Amino acid sequence: MTRKGIERRKAIKNIGLIALAVWALTWVLGYAGVGNYLQERAVGIDAAMVPLMPAIISVLLLFTSIILTVIWAKQRGSNLPEADAPSGRRKFLMGSAAVGGGVLGAVGTTMGRIEGWFRVSAPVYSAETEQTAPTAHANWSGARIAHKRPLGRTGFMVSDISMGSGQFLRHSDPEGFFREILDRGVNYIDTSPDYAGAKSETVLGNVLKERNREELFIVTKWCTSDGHVRQGSSVETYLAALDDSLQRLNTNYVDLIHVHSCDSIERLLDPNMLKAFDMAKADGRVRFLGVTSHTPNLEEVAYAVIDSDKFDVMMLAYHHGAWPKQQDIIKKAAAKNMGIVAMKTLKGAKHKGMLEFQDESTSYTQAAFKWVMSNPDVACLVISFFETQHVDEYIHASGKALTTNDTAVLDKYDDLIAGTHCFANCGDCLESCPHSVPINDVLRHRMYFEDYGDEKQAMQLYSALDKNADACQTCSAPCTGACPQNIDIQNRMADSHEKLSLA
Ligand code: SF4
Ligand code: SF4
Repeated sequence: MTRKGIERRKAIKNIGLIALAVWALTWVLGYAGVGNYLQERAVGIDAAMVPLMPAIISVLLLFTSIILTVIWAKQRGSNLPEADAPSGRRKFLMGSAAVGGGVLGAVGTTMGRIEGWFRVSAPVYSAETEQTAPTAHANWSGARIAHKRPLGRTGFMVSDISMGSGQFLRHSDPEGFFREILDRGVNYIDTSPDYAGAKSETVLGNVLKERNREELFIVTKWCTSDGHVRQGSSVETYLAALDDSLQRLNTNYVDLIHVHSCDSIERLLDPNMLKAFDMAKADGRVRFLGVTSHTPNLEEVAYAVIDSDKFDVMMLAYHHGAWPKQQDIIKKAAAKNMGIVAMKTLKGAKHKGMLEFQDESTSYTQAAFKWVMSNPDVACLVISFFETQHVDEYIHASGKALTTNDTAVLDKYDDLIAGTHCFANCGDCLESCPHSVPINDVLRHRMYFEDYGDEKQAMQLYSALDKNADACQTCSAPCTGACPQNIDIQNRMADSHEKLSLA
C-alpha cells in the first residue's frame, strides 16, 4: 500500500474512532442532558428554571455524531482499489445501520433517565378513579364535619375530610361551592400555585378574605404558576413564590408550605429552601414545613424527611391497596409527631363498575375514606371536590368508623377488579419477562379498550408500543406468579393481543 493509502486508512480509522467517542458522549448526555431536562419537566419543575443548555449540547452532539458517522461511512474503502472498494449502496447501508444504532442508544439512555418516573408516577397522576356514587342517598344530605384530629406537632385540629383544590374549578360556581364546603366544617384547604395556572389560589382567595382566617388551615406549595421551584433556586425565588401565593390567597400567612411532589433528596433538603422557610417563619409568613411525595423514590425521600426532623407534615398517597412499607413510613413519621395527610385515597380502577354499588348504603368513596381514617396515625385526608354531590357524599364519611359493611364494599370493589385490574404503577412483573414486553402498558391499553370504551385510541396506542404481546402466545410464561394482584399474565396478555390487534 502506498504511503498515501496508509494515511487515508489512518484518517478513516481516526474519523471512525472520533465518531465513536462522540456517540459515547452523546449517549452520556442523552441521560444527563435531555434525560435530566425531561425528567425535571415530568416531575413538574417550572420550565423557566430548568437549564436548557445541557439538553441543547446533547442535541448538537447527536447531530455531530450523525455527520461524523456519515463521513466515516462515505470514506470507507476510499483507500482501496476501485474494484475492492464497497459499493455506494453498501456504504449507505453501513452508515444507516451505524447512525440507527447510535440514535437508538441515545433514545435508550434518555428514556432510561425518565422511565422510573413515568412507570411509577405518571399512573398515580393519570389513574382514573371512581369519585362519585351513582346515586346520592337522602341521608347524606346536609352532612357536616363530625370529627377533627390534631395534625401532628402543629397541634391544629383539622377536619378528617379535607379539601384538595386541584379540580374544584370544574364546578360551575367554584366560589359558591367552596363557601358551601367551608360552611359544612371543612377547615384544611390544600392548594398550590401550579393548580390551573394559579387560578385555584385566586378563586380560593376571593372567598378566604370573607372568613375567619384563624379557623382555617391553609396549605400551599413552593411552586410558581408553571411548576415547582427548582432545587438550587435562590432564597429570593422561594420567597417570591410564597409572597405570590399569599397575595392570591388574600392572607398574610399560610399555615403550611410543602415541597411539592418531591422525588429527590437534593430538592427535599435544598439549603436555600430551608433558609427561605426559616426566614418566612421568623416573620410570620408561614408556620410549618411539609412535603408531598408519591414518586419512584418515595421510600428514600420519606425516610429522609423523617430523619431530617425539619418537616412538620408529610402528605402521602394512601388507599386501601396500600403496600406494607407505606404503613411503616406512616408509623415512623407519626412516632416523631409529624402530621400525616393522606391523598389519592381512592384506588384507581374500572370505570363501569360503580352501578354495582347503587344500592349500597355506603358509597365506595365513603368506605374508602373510612378505611384511610381507620389508621389513627393519619390526621386527615385530602380529596378533590368538584361536583355538588361531593359535599354531601364525602363529608358524610366524617367521624364514622369503618364497619363490616364498609369492608364488604371495599372487598366487593376489589373483587370487581381482582385478577384483571393492573395497577400500572407497581411494575412488579416487568423483570420476569425475558422478552421485555411492557405488561403494564399492554394491560392499561386494554383497560382503555374495555372499561373506557375508547377502542380506537386503545388500538392505536397498542400498535405504537415497541413490543407487543405477540410473544405471549407461544412463550413458556416465566411471568407466571409474578403479579401480586394474581393476574394470570400470560392469558390476559394473549387475550389482550387478540383484542387490541383487531382491525
Ligand atoms: S407470557 Fe408474555 S409477558 Fe409473560 S414472560 Fe412470556 S412474553 Fe413475557
Ligand atoms: S400485571 Fe400485576 S405485577 Fe404487573 S404491573 Fe400489573 S398489577 Fe403490577
